[in-house]
Amino acid sequence: GPPGAGKGTQAALLAERLGLPKFATGDLLRDAVKRGTPIGLKAKAVMESGQLVNDDIIMGVVRDELAKPEAAKGVIFDGVVRTVPQAEGVARLLAERSRQMDCVLFFDVPDSEILSRIEKRRGIEGRADDDPAAVATRLRAYREQTAPVLDWYRSRGTVHLVQAVGKVEEIASQVKGLIGR
Ligand code: AMP
Repeated sequence: GPPGAGKGTQAALLAERLGLPKFATGDLLRDAVKRGTPIGLKAKAVMESGQLVNDDIIMGVVRDELAKPEAAKGVIFDGVVRTVPQAEGVARLLAERSRQMDCVLFFDVPDSEILSRIEKRRGIEGRADDDPAAVATRLRAYREQTAPVLDWYRSRGTVHLVQAVGKVEEIASQVKGLIGR
């Protein structure tokens, strides 16, 4: 789903309910930026501008996370996959471990709702990439690079469409109904 669709909020609830780790590339990258790691140094300016971080960096992060013992029972991915090459790369990494993407959730939210949610989040979290110019870039990156991922998964399996407008609890129960647990 687009930025501000509620992916992070719902991923946290789902992870807690299923007892699985939530793996959010955005959070991991923000942490790397804060700690000034080599990945953080490379990603900082790109993230602040609202563009997508290079696929090779993301694949390295995903590979490292999947290798952790806590990922053994499965993970909830949040904010990844965001490009078709990432979809291909993640499928490959999972296949190497005899695993697969069980379920893809698409969070559908109209643009007008997204802009007001991000504005609200900006006041609360103060994220640099929630300022209006960066948001415009993020929405463009979403449309151009991320939206095609939906068709990639649609042609390969089940994508569940979440009507992601409404109360957090209502959306959580929609997710529960869609994935059946
Ligand atoms: P998020 O917290 O998911 O909105 O991510 C914040 C920013 O981190 C994005 O705007 C990108 O710059 C970067 N990012 C996070 N996940 C990815 C990804 N899978 N591919 C490319 N860039 C990403």
